[in-house]
Amino acid sequence: MDRPRITIFDTTLRDGEQSPGCSMNVQEKLRLAQQIDRLGVDVIEAGFPIASDGDFEAVQRISASVRRPIIAGLARACTGDVDRAWEALQGAAHPRIHVFLATSDIHLKYKLRITREQCLEQARNAVRHAKSLCADVEFSPEDATRTDVPFLCQVVEAVIAAGATTVNIPDTVGYSMPEEYGQLIRTLHEKVAGIERVTISTHCHNDLGLAVANSLAGVQQGARQVECTINGIGERAGNAALEEIAAALYVRADKYGVTTGIRLNQLYPTSQELGNIITFRPSPNKAIVGANAFAHESGIHQHGMLANPLCYEIMTPALVGVSKTNLVLGKHSGRAALRHRLEELGYSLTREELQNVYYRFVALADRKKNIYDQDLIGILPDPIRERRHVPVHEEVN
Ligand SMILES: [Zn+2]
Repeated sequence: MDRPRITIFDTTLRDGEQSPGCSMNVQEKLRLAQQIDRLGVDVIEAGFPIASDGDFEAVQRISASVRRPIIAGLARACTGDVDRAWEALQGAAHPRIHVFLATSDIHLKYKLRITREQCLEQARNAVRHAKSLCADVEFSPEDATRTDVPFLCQVVEAVIAAGATTVNIPDTVGYSMPEEYGQLIRTLHEKVAGIERVTISTHCHNDLGLAVANSLAGVQQGARQVECTINGIGERAGNAALEEIAAALYVRADKYGVTTGIRLNQLYPTSQELGNIITFRPSPNKAIVGANAFAHESGIHQHGMLANPLCYEIMTPALVGVSKTNLVLGKHSGRAALRHRLEELGYSLTREELQNVYYRFVALADRKKNIYDQDLIGILPDPIRERRHVPVHEEVN
């Protein structure tokens, strides 16, 4: 009855970090890596060691101090890159060399200027070399989703034979539709000799807003590692958002039948930590971690929420580490939410009093977008204000 475990591979520090507004210094990377470790991810891609001395140092420092998860270092498919990645990973408790090489005709012809035969040979050699250094080797055929499928199968078979233990299938340009991406994962399982010996991984970009949907389609067809980032940061429109993948696999466990090692209550703190470091935060309506993800303003929704949160919430905010549901008072709010907030502030009102205060509230909300606690206290008639009892949460101090 054991449900398959999905390996969560976090690339916030590599794919995420290389996008605009997201650069981090070594100290910041280390701090974030420690929080990502608390989150319970299985693999942290800490950087691309040959890319810069800063990246090299970050991989080295994270390897030395974050001991539980696998630490991966990225390398192009050549000896110099692989050697440099391995050097940076020397102190890691669980090192992984991640080798990549583009396989689509457009990349081979215009970017790499090599033939398919040369590509196949280069991939095989680089993986063989990485394997001679490190037992855990991942290979990514970059732009896999725009690669001729029979050729992709050939490359995947070759790198498995050369010793790869994880094969990642990147939708580098965010071009796939979910059923296509799922079908590609299924085809690889059907056609590639030796595929049962390796973990197949997803790596989806969000150019058409489908990164999470594509990753989940991959999981449904047997992918057992998902590459993703906190807040979905990454090249262009970003990567699949880790918090959305983790929450979807948890909330819809009935559909996917898999587990992860993610501590869901660390999702929000991790998102906040990233927001404190880089130049932007998730948009307010971002799923799971946005400021409004658990906010309810309309009167009907607020009434339902106060009666039973399950009326409008498929998970509690506490599940993902948000301290409480945020009922925003505004012109769409109803009497139930108003009474609730006033009680929290220490004011109990009779039905007639509430009706009277509600009229004042609606008049104010018409003029003012958001109503703060001070505004509420301001519209209370004096006799009510004088009756205030100290709310329970204030008594501790
Ligand atoms: Zn990527």
